[in-house]
Amino acid sequence: MAIEAIFTGDSLKKEVLEETYDLLSTLIQNKCVNPPGDEMKSIKTIEKHLKKYGIESKIYESAPGRGNLVASISGSDKNSPGLIFGPSHVDVVPVTQPEKWQIDPFSGERKDGYIWGRGAFDMLFMVATQIQAFIQLKKEGFEPMGDLLLFIVADEETGGELGAKWMLDNHPEEVGLNNKKMYSIIESGGITFAPNRLIFLHGEKGSMWSSIKFKGTAGHGSYPYKTDNAILKASEAAIKLTKYTDKKMPVDTQYVKNLLKEVGVNFFLRKLVTSKITLPFMLKLLHKIDPQMATVIHGLTRMTISPNVIKGGTKTNIIPTDVHINLDIRTLPDQDFEYVKFHIKKALGKLAKEVEITKLLGEEGFFAEGTVSPASSPFVEVLNKTIQKEFPEAKLVPMLSMGGTDGRFYRMKNIDAYGFALYDPELTIEQIFGMSHGVDEKIGLKTIELSLKVYYNLAKEFLGKIE
Ligand SMILES: [Zn+2]
Repeated sequence: MAIEAIFTGDSLKKEVLEETYDLLSTLIQNKCVNPPGDEMKSIKTIEKHLKKYGIESKIYESAPGRGNLVASISGSDKNSPGLIFGPSHVDVVPVTQPEKWQIDPFSGERKDGYIWGRGAFDMLFMVATQIQAFIQLKKEGFEPMGDLLLFIVADEETGGELGAKWMLDNHPEEVGLNNKKMYSIIESGGITFAPNRLIFLHGEKGSMWSSIKFKGTAGHGSYPYKTDNAILKASEAAIKLTKYTDKKMPVDTQYVKNLLKEVGVNFFLRKLVTSKITLPFMLKLLHKIDPQMATVIHGLTRMTISPNVIKGGTKTNIIPTDVHINLDIRTLPDQDFEYVKFHIKKALGKLAKEVEITKLLGEEGFFAEGTVSPASSPFVEVLNKTIQKEFPEAKLVPMLSMGGTDGRFYRMKNIDAYGFALYDPELTIEQIFGMSHGVDEKIGLKTIELSLKVYYNLAKEFLGKIE
């Protein structure tokens, strides 16, 4: 289906798309690298762009230079559920190796059917297409039943404290928390992973980064026999935690069942993978055939612990007294810090009585419980219908994200949030995820067009009057 069928007239189609590409390029050029963020640059760009069409928006400054923006189209029926385009973030991660890029990472250049630059994929193209869909609806005089909000934020890449979280805490009524029922559309979704099967994110694992500490007794390194060495305890702990994660961590297969079925895994194999008894063996086997799939299934079926930073020791000839290991811990929804501590101790066995476990907070840390929205509901049906307008055979399959997004802040307030866009089905999942936060980040013009269409159609379909 051509975009003309949605946006009246041929000239408009080109105009709308060109304007979307330009807006995206400008957002990339604004270089809202977080830290420090400085998102007000892009927030002002968006405000000005909306104003061109007579659309008023409101800016909220959470800290100097850190801007968030809300615009809305009020619904006619206060009891009808509403829709939020966002929270969509304008901040981007830093570029660490600019010399490896084919182009200037902040050029926003259009080349070979892509727009290139840091943030193009994560998630400025969604910001640009949501804005453009919103403008189109407003231009047409669309009268929704429930409210439609455009909600653009700062600070997602370092945890959302000055972005989505700050807005929900400080201006809840402006972002839909007083409405009867709202649905939020966030990043990552509409990605093809098998023919005509597209994943959308309906939840995310928690991140409960923690530090464990072991103490030892100081001594001279030239007399090591049977000494109380904290490094040895920490090393043993790292191995124990890893083995426990793979072999003994309680398994929950609810988040892979649907996924395996939709990938086309046959019934017998599915039974083997979703049985707690046969899963460890199946993972080993799968690791030989499809290591990436094995990693995904491993991560989706349990809390994972990965020991990634070790600190300790002062001098080569001194037996160390204090050693810390930072653990990247990812929990399934409903698993809390008590659960985390319980399993660390269980994994450590005899060493458990010596360990000190603390949450990693502040700059070094990330601490949030997992959240999940229903994998199927009338709203999810509408999401499905919207992608089927473009690809009639396509079907959305729910998936949990391993990492955190701003979606969790809404879910924590009982608002369902779904990662949803529509990616060019020609791209493989490796190509898509390879673009995130990496070198030569870019987004295809086709994906931009498809996403603009699904956002527009979603609002019409979900908020429009039933005829
Ligand atoms: Zn993102």
